[in-house]
Amino acid sequence: NTFAELDLDEGLNKNIRRCKYVKPTPIQRHAMPNAVAGRDLMACAQTGSGKTAAFCFPIISGILKSRLSLPSAACGGGIVYPSALILSPTRELSCQIHDETKKFAYQTGVKVAVAYGGAPIVNQLRSLERGVDILVATPGRLVDIIKRERVSLRRIKYLALDEADRMLDMGFEPQIRKIVEQMDMPPPGVRQTLLFSATFPNDIQKLASDFLSNYIFLAA
Ligand code: AMP
Repeated sequence: NTFAELDLDEGLNKNIRRCKYVKPTPIQRHAMPNAVAGRDLMACAQTGSGKTAAFCFPIISGILKSRLSLPSAACGGGIVYPSALILSPTRELSCQIHDETKKFAYQTGVKVAVAYGGAPIVNQLRSLERGVDILVATPGRLVDIIKRERVSLRRIKYLALDEADRMLDMGFEPQIRKIVEQMDMPPPGVRQTLLFSATFPNDIQKLASDFLSNYIFLAA
């Protein structure tokens, strides 16, 4: 099993080689072909399993492939329209995902930005103004940014929820629901949702049944 078999975008493949990823980890091997095929996923993944790349590669590749037919719609009228959103529970994890995503989007033209609480919002808003394809964010800060009407989630095509169980433990469920409401656009089924969690209590299963459609469940 290799990354080359996955039919990812060639610019992304080049970055994967540059980062010296040779073989997919088990979660990558199971999640990536399904995600690349456009399926919704609920995946069991622990820290260190390689879960970031498991959702990040299909998102970057999907954006690049759709660009062959459509121009980038990252910006318009002072409002930015990202096509992917990655939600994570903490500043540390968001920064880590942002760093990794940037490495894999290197020289592809895919723009990545990050927003998290506990830091001045103005700097984050300024970085969004340059346009963003993939936004990595913590739920609370993203709700604040949405209120300021600088980012629209109406064109989100890919939603990844990382460490979903931790986000619920931290009390982010109302914010997550508010965020997902913002991206519900007709026709239904346009969005692809990838949910990663270490555990699957009832509240996570409820979230999955509310947000995912016809999804594949991957248990480690
Ligand atoms: P994660 O679970 O996403 O936090 O990844 C854990 C670590 O493994 C990170 O430092 C990744 O850069 C690295 N990693 C992820 N996938 C691979 C892979 N297929 N080959 C080598 N390193 C990897």
